[in-house]
Amino acid sequence: MAVTVEYDAVVVGAGAAGMTAALATARSGLSTLVIEKAPVYGGSTARSGAGIWIPNNEVILAAGVPDTPAKADTYLAAVVGPEVPAARRQAFLANGPRAISFLLRHTPLRFSWMQGYPDYYPELPGGMPQGRSIEPQALDANILGAEYAKLNPSYVPTPPGTVVYDVDYKWLSLIARHPRGVATATEIVWRYLQLSAQGQKPISMGQALAGGLRAGLLAAGVPVWLDTPLLDLHVENGRVAGVVARRDGQEILIRARRGTVIGSGGFEHNERMRKQYQQAPIGTDWTVGAASNTGDGIEAGERAGAALGLMDDAWWGPMIPLPDGPWFCLSERTLPGTIFVNQAGQRFVNEAAPYSDVVHVMYEKGHIPCWMITDQEYRNRYLFKDLAPLLPYPEGWYRAKDWTIGGLAAKIGVPAAALRATVERFNAQARAGRDPDHRRGDSAYDAYFADPTNQPSPCLTPIWLPPFYAFTIVPGDLGTKGGLVTDARARVLRPDGSVIPGLYAAGNASAAVMGRSYAGAGSTLGPAMTFGYVAGMDLVSG
Ligand SMILES: Cc1cc2nc3c(=O)[nH]c(=O)nc-3n(C[C@H](O)[C@H](O)[C@H](O)COP(=O)(O)OP(=O)(O)OC[C@H]3O[C@@H](n4cnc5c(N)ncnc54)[C@H](O)[C@@H]3O)c2cc1C
Repeated sequence: MAVTVEYDAVVVGAGAAGMTAALATARSGLSTLVIEKAPVYGGSTARSGAGIWIPNNEVILAAGVPDTPAKADTYLAAVVGPEVPAARRQAFLANGPRAISFLLRHTPLRFSWMQGYPDYYPELPGGMPQGRSIEPQALDANILGAEYAKLNPSYVPTPPGTVVYDVDYKWLSLIARHPRGVATATEIVWRYLQLSAQGQKPISMGQALAGGLRAGLLAAGVPVWLDTPLLDLHVENGRVAGVVARRDGQEILIRARRGTVIGSGGFEHNERMRKQYQQAPIGTDWTVGAASNTGDGIEAGERAGAALGLMDDAWWGPMIPLPDGPWFCLSERTLPGTIFVNQAGQRFVNEAAPYSDVVHVMYEKGHIPCWMITDQEYRNRYLFKDLAPLLPYPEGWYRAKDWTIGGLAAKIGVPAAALRATVERFNAQARAGRDPDHRRGDSAYDAYFADPTNQPSPCLTPIWLPPFYAFTIVPGDLGTKGGLVTDARARVLRPDGSVIPGLYAAGNASAAVMGRSYAGAGSTLGPAMTFGYVAGMDLVSG
């Protein structure tokens, strides 16, 4: 190996987990290097909505959210169940608020409470119907200078100069239905005019989060080497002492005097690993995670003796395969006027349930693909992806269209009588405003991306106005959630529970503290940033 360099801390991956870890070590005085495989930084973090679920952080407490450590502990224990050790859950709850305060001190990031976006199980003890998630405020990309051009683009690009927040989507989807939809659109135009008059290049959501973390690293003088993939871990006498990477076509050894942090994301784009660890049908076509996330850090950790956990699971969500790529549908499936049916033409799930739960049911019951059935009234009322109400769906968006439910059934190959009966039964229940079959609308969560102007239930309305449409629904994901097993200090563990000295992991490269569940908006980024921070601080003190 031609080149050897040495730092105190080496961090693999420039996403939320890696950049937070690097900031923690650098701000504690350690020389720190981040290596990033892609020609851009930000990973899935930059593509994301950047909702962050961290109970009791200073932002929500200042906003008056009545959270307490006891409430958060009760809620998370109920959501996650016994699969995740209590010590890890508690480490997340104790350190999450510290991580947010640390980022407020050492980056230009500022956050707002996503008021009204409920926890995903708000009726459980300690759950919050008004939510505890936060998201970044808009950031002026001018602070990144030339580094702005190297920020991984967003999954849902907004026109340059516009600022759209997570909390705006609910209202934008209701632009033809609710005065607040129009008010939100007007507010977005107003923000644009104000900020462009000030010469700002505002960025929001995942762009703001990844950009803000990168700005923090710039200020702390941490180099981020792009186009530098981790090839393997460097082990000396049973201790991880750095990494072997490729840079400018050469293999190099990067020694880490104090420790190495794996923040290289999940394995969502690794076809072989997905087939090996996950249930069929599975592949890499239905994920919206960053293309460079191919599980390299997980495999390198395993070669160094690490245990793996939760490899069969992912941050699932129902996905519509559109011609230009998979669409992770949120409001599209929860707004009234939709149902999911299986190949027998029957409903099988609460369509408005938290996204990972819906896909767990799809896999458990074998309903893949299934169909989302809607009508013209739904098209007339709501935004669909970025398509304004009333406009015709572009070519290839839906699988079938027909003027009768029976004709639609024939086109998607489900029994016509069964689909007619399903729609008739659903319509009767929607008129009554209750769904005794699947309890859609019973949870405050179901009503978030719904239509408050729709009566008697914001979540349910009959499917009656032809033509009718069927969309293909497949199990998509925001990334995988299985990986290196870590302890409460983010140290990587062997199958016998012992610690691999010198090795830490955080984010989707590690087995998730959420277990098989999803506590609220931001349940992947909140823990990724928290355990990135924990890893960094532990490495400093260790
Ligand atoms: C469209 C979308 C919306 C989302 N919305 C939300 C949301 O609102 N809230 C939420 O909590 N989560 C959300 N998620 C999920 C969330 O973005 C991810 O779970 C999170 O970003 C994972 O962070 P990470 O740091 O582990 O990985 P990433 O941010 O993906 O970073 C991993 C980095 O490691 C790099 N890497 C990979 N292999 C190597 C290697 N061999 N060497 C060096 N570097 C390597 C990758 O290129 C990447 O840059 C969303 C995801 C998507 C795609």
